[in-house]
Amino acid sequence: MAVVVDAAVTQSVTGALVGVIDELARLDPLALADGATIEALHRQLERLGAVTARAVAGFDAGRTWETSGARTASAWVSWRCHVPLASARRRVQLGRALRHMPAVEAAWLAGDIGEPHVGLLAAARTPATAGHFERDEAMLVALAGDLRHHHFVRALAYWSQRADPDGTERSAEDRHHERSLRMSSTFGGAWALNGLFDPVNGSIVAEVLNKLDDELFEADWARAKARVGEGARVSDLDRAPAQRRADALVEMARRAMAMPAGARLPEPLFSVLVGYETFAGRICELANATVVAPGALVGWLDRAWVERVVFDGPSRVTDVGVRQRLFTGATRRAVEQRDRECFHETCDVPAQDCEVDHIVPWSEGGPTTQANGRVACGFHNRERHKPRPPPGA
Ligand SMILES: [Zn+2]
Repeated sequence: MAVVVDAAVTQSVTGALVGVIDELARLDPLALADGATIEALHRQLERLGAVTARAVAGFDAGRTWETSGARTASAWVSWRCHVPLASARRRVQLGRALRHMPAVEAAWLAGDIGEPHVGLLAAARTPATAGHFERDEAMLVALAGDLRHHHFVRALAYWSQRADPDGTERSAEDRHHERSLRMSSTFGGAWALNGLFDPVNGSIVAEVLNKLDDELFEADWARAKARVGEGARVSDLDRAPAQRRADALVEMARRAMAMPAGARLPEPLFSVLVGYETFAGRICELANATVVAPGALVGWLDRAWVERVVFDGPSRVTDVGVRQRLFTGATRRAVEQRDRECFHETCDVPAQDCEVDHIVPWSEGGPTTQANGRVACGFHNRERHKPRPPPGA
C-alpha cells in the first residue's frame, strides 16, 4: 500500500508535536510529578519510539541516505542524530522487524508495550519459530502488556523453549561451548580478568562471589559505624562496590587454597516440582529465576541432590505444618518454591536471597506454617516493622 503525503502535511504534524513538547518543557516538573502523568508520559514516549522506529526503517528502505556517502542507514542516523551506531542499528532492526509482527506494531504504536518488549519479541521470532509466532503473537503481546517485565522475559523464554526445543538445546550447548576465562598480566604487572559462563556455571560462581561480597560489606559497615557512629553512610565505607567484589574474588581463591584435599564439595540441589506444571505451566529455571534449557542440567544429575516438592494447587505445597519460631527445613523450602520471589508487588528479589517471613507475625500468634509464610527480601521484611505514614500522605 503506497501512501502519498504532502511534505507540508508532515511538517505541520511534526510542528504540532514540537509545540506540545515545548509546552510540557515550560511546565514546572512538579506539575507533572503525579503517578497518572508519569504513566501517561511513558506511554507517549513509547508511542513516539514506535513512530520513530517505523520511520527509520522506511528511511532505510528508501535509500535516500546513499547520496550522503554513508555506508548504511544506521551510519547516517548515527552521524546526523549523534547517537551511538549500536542504537541507530537497533532502531532500524526494530522498525524492520515490525513488518512481520502486526500485533506487536499495533501495541507499540498504542503505547501498550515498550521498546524492550519489542526487542525481546523480535529476537524470539526466528526462522524456526516464525510459524508459532504468527499463531501466538496476540497472546504474547497481551502477556507483554500485563506481566511485570521480568515475568514476561521468563514467559517468553518458556515460549521459545516450546516453539523450538531443539534450537533451545542447541543454543544452551553453544553457550556452554563459548565459555572462556582470560586472565592476563598487563603493563606494570596488574592483572586483567575477563570471562563468560553458561547460566548454570555462571550462577555457581556468582552465588559464592555474592556471599563473600556480603560478608565483606558487613565487615566494612561495622568498621564505618565504629568510626563514624550510627549515622554512617555508604560514602563512609572503606571500599567501593567494584573494589569489594575484586577482594571477594581474592578471598574465594584464598579459601579454595585453605580447603583440605579430598574435602567434600557442595552438591547442587534440584527441586522437582510435582504437579506445578498442571497449575502454573512449565518450569525449568535456576534459583535466581534464569530460565535454562532442560539439557543444560543433564550434566549435573550425577552430582545433584533431588528434592520433590508436591503441589496440590497453584499456591499450595503439601503442608508439613511444623510449628517452630523460624521457617526452616521443609516448610521453608515449600514457601520458597511456591513464592519464588519477594512477596511485594514492586519487588523481584529471588527467593534464594530472601527470608521466609510470617504473614501474621509470630508475636501476634501467627503460626510457622506454609499458609502463614511468605518470601520477603531484607528491605520488605524490615519495611513492615516500620510505622506507616497515613494513607494519602
Ligand atoms: Zn522485596
